[in-house]
Amino acid sequence: MACRKRQRFSPEVVGKTDFFDGLPDDLVISILCKLSSSAGCPSDFVNVLITCKRLNSLALHSLVLAKASHKMFAIKAKNWSESAHRLLKSCADAGNVEACYTLGMIRFYCLQNRGSGASLMAKAAINSHAPALYSLAVIQFNGSGGSKNDKDLRAGVALCARAAFLGHIDALRELGHCLQDGYGVRQNIAEGRRFLVQANARELAAVLSSTPTSNVPTRSWLTWSPHPIPHPNQRQPAVPGCPLLSDFGCNVPAPEAHPASRFLAEWFGSREREPGPGLRLCSHVGCGRPETRKHEFRRCSVCGAVNYCSRACQALDWKLRHKAECAPVERWLDEEGEAGEGNGAVDGDDVMIVDS
Ligand SMILES: [Zn+2]
Ligand SMILES: [Zn+2]
Repeated sequence: MACRKRQRFSPEVVGKTDFFDGLPDDLVISILCKLSSSAGCPSDFVNVLITCKRLNSLALHSLVLAKASHKMFAIKAKNWSESAHRLLKSCADAGNVEACYTLGMIRFYCLQNRGSGASLMAKAAINSHAPALYSLAVIQFNGSGGSKNDKDLRAGVALCARAAFLGHIDALRELGHCLQDGYGVRQNIAEGRRFLVQANARELAAVLSSTPTSNVPTRSWLTWSPHPIPHPNQRQPAVPGCPLLSDFGCNVPAPEAHPASRFLAEWFGSREREPGPGLRLCSHVGCGRPETRKHEFRRCSVCGAVNYCSRACQALDWKLRHKAECAPVERWLDEEGEAGEGNGAVDGDDVMIVDS
């Protein structure tokens, strides 16, 4: 700041034309478009907004806001404010689909403004935004924001199919489970299995094509291991990365969660903002969705201790974490009169969840 002030008032500039003032607006706007589309975090952009009046007004031009990258909306839940809300709204109004989706999720789940949240997500979905299509599918499957009778399984499957067609991995996985179970669609086990295999393959491709975000060396992702997660009874250190592709014996790191999901997880993670009495969060850490009414989510039928918004979250959490923790509840053991095989009895893609 000190340096900038000195420049602004430096005697050489006074009385002469400032080079920056001489730049035409459209040139500055095109530079700001590049900046907003490549911003790695909100501060990359906000720092420009607060620099001077001219940059502030040009940076809020609809052309600039429409181009903003999804990373620009990676706002921390603890930093949520009226001005953050206004910026997201301006971007959504400028036609930015990422902003429509992010603000839609925040309004629907965090601010409990279901109507405007869902319509913002619909605006993104109409523009083929895959995460928005998938989120609307989850809302339809669960009847979120309404009663149990508002569940629309066929609409959920249709939205999932559209998101899966656009390459959304969770949607592919969800669709695979729907086909396998005949949930909202005619049962077709072979076709369902094909979607699940495709989801796993895409997961691997996505990880390999992204720049490494973890310290896990790429080579170790692809090492074949017959026991990717140590059994809880064996005191072995966990294998680095996560056995997302345990079906294929490959270890890859967990996929990066969408900024909107991270916002939800942070929002409901703070004590004063719990989802409400009797309402639970999806047990998959990367999801962040809360229940909108009691017993909305389905729970793991083996342990009953975890619950999920969707089959996709359940399958992912199983591979990431729950596989090592899940154990049959005592009373079921008593009923069956045996210790059971626990984890050995269930496979990641076949583990059951039931309506709670
Ligand atoms: Zn979930
Ligand atoms: Zn379980």
